[in-house]
Amino acid sequence: MEEILVIAEHRQGAFRDITFEQLGFAQQAGALNNLSVTTVVLGMDAAGAEQLQSACDAVLYTDDARFADYNAPDYLLALSTIIRSRRPRLVVMGHTAQGMDLAPVLALRTGLPLITDCLGFEWTETQVLARRQLYAGKIDARLVLKPADTYMVNLRPGHFEGQPDMGKKATLEAFPAPVEDGASTRRFVEYITAETEDVDITDAEILVSIGRGIGKPENIPLVEAFAGAIGAALSCSRPVADNQWLPKTRQVGTSGKTVRPKIYIALGISGAFQHQAGMKNADTIIAVNTDPEAPIFSVAHYGIVGDLLEVLPVLTKKFTSTEV
Ligand code: FAD
Repeated sequence: MEEILVIAEHRQGAFRDITFEQLGFAQQAGALNNLSVTTVVLGMDAAGAEQLQSACDAVLYTDDARFADYNAPDYLLALSTIIRSRRPRLVVMGHTAQGMDLAPVLALRTGLPLITDCLGFEWTETQVLARRQLYAGKIDARLVLKPADTYMVNLRPGHFEGQPDMGKKATLEAFPAPVEDGASTRRFVEYITAETEDVDITDAEILVSIGRGIGKPENIPLVEAFAGAIGAALSCSRPVADNQWLPKTRQVGTSGKTVRPKIYIALGISGAFQHQAGMKNADTIIAVNTDPEAPIFSVAHYGIVGDLLEVLPVLTKKFTSTEV
């Protein structure tokens, strides 16, 4: 049976969410096209690889500490060897910092067509189609791809559904991946974690996000009080980050981060498409805006038309109140 090859992404010993999103996408594409799904895990032992057994048909893992951290030269050599020998129909990576670094060189080495920041891919009876956005999301492009035996896609994080358990029972197979001879000019040195006061907004289950409607940085403590009351992290639209009212790492959108929290509360954010691109897949979106015509309401599940400076204290009181 022909296969889809998913390149798992892990950091500091844990699989990243994108891996499960890749697997969710691959399961769907595999079911539609009668392809099995094989996951490649570089740098984890059997116990690590087992974590993906319920989400695919086979896991190939290499228990070699040299792959434990993302190391471009070793990853490139190992993956190009695997791709050449297995000749899958599709190679699936994430459009993450790692995927953006790896995929173009891997595509060049293996001679495969690559679709970056991919939002959709399908084989129809007559064509191979892919979807991605152009001009910072202004154009939703459907691409007809030239015929090829194998394609490579880098999926946009947060766009596809996936979970660790998809009812599968994958076989586990260890394989010895080749490594570079040490002559490479580029090596992984260390992870530098974000500044201590900073958080990874892509991990937050609840995000309270502020836009230009917050007015001035002096109003941010009001939002922090609300976020604290509901256990949320703070994120923002671009003007807030541009003004350095919050760090750039908190920016949601095409030039910021793509988030998919359970709840996204947009306060004083108009909902420009560049912002929506980063948050529209949140499970529940709640917007507070003085303008009933603001585009954010077109993606919001719940909305309050009102001044956030008046609404927030009421909500904070509600959540901190001990009265039932
Ligand atoms: P505004 O559009 O100014 O909206 C402010 C909103 O607050 C308005 O809807 C207003 O009605 C409301 N408001 C005002 N006062 C109050 C109040 N007291 N209470 C309640 N509501 C109030 N933007 C991003 O966010 N992320 C990105 O990653 C991003 N990338 C970009 C990339 C490119 C290449 C370009 C060109 C633009 C990008 N932008 C991005 C900018 C984007 O186009 C918008 O300009 C931006 O999202 C607007 O931010 P905003 O909604 O906070 O501000």
